[in-house]
Amino acid sequence: MLQELFSNSDTPHEGDEYKTIIEGGKTFVIRYGYYEDRERLDPTIDPMPIYPDFTKDPVYTDQGEPFVTMMQDACEYYRHASGSEHDCSTCRHFRRVEDMLGVCECAKLKKRE
Ligand code: SF4
Repeated sequence: MLQELFSNSDTPHEGDEYKTIIEGGKTFVIRYGYYEDRERLDPTIDPMPIYPDFTKDPVYTDQGEPFVTMMQDACEYYRHASGSEHDCSTCRHFRRVEDMLGVCECAKLKKRE
């Protein structure tokens, strides 16, 4: 009921597809949802695009570079490039792909076969 009061027909629903991103030989289907249960229970918070947690489940490009998200916490190889955040988005090794998705170009993190 409360959710209906804060929603309109343009509001995405949990599970709806936000977009599909194809990069580095991988396909990511980004869907709307919540990062935390408390967000789901708050009727003022609409579902948002949910990106993979690459710290938990790493995914690499066909060239062995790890995918990262802009909001991912900085790792030990972080090198500040710009901005005030301390995450991948402000690291000089970060190459943005699309929206919040990027690739880490740090040679130390490249997967070697
Ligand atoms: S972009 Fe790469 S090197 Fe930079 S903080 Fe993220 S994972 Fe670490």
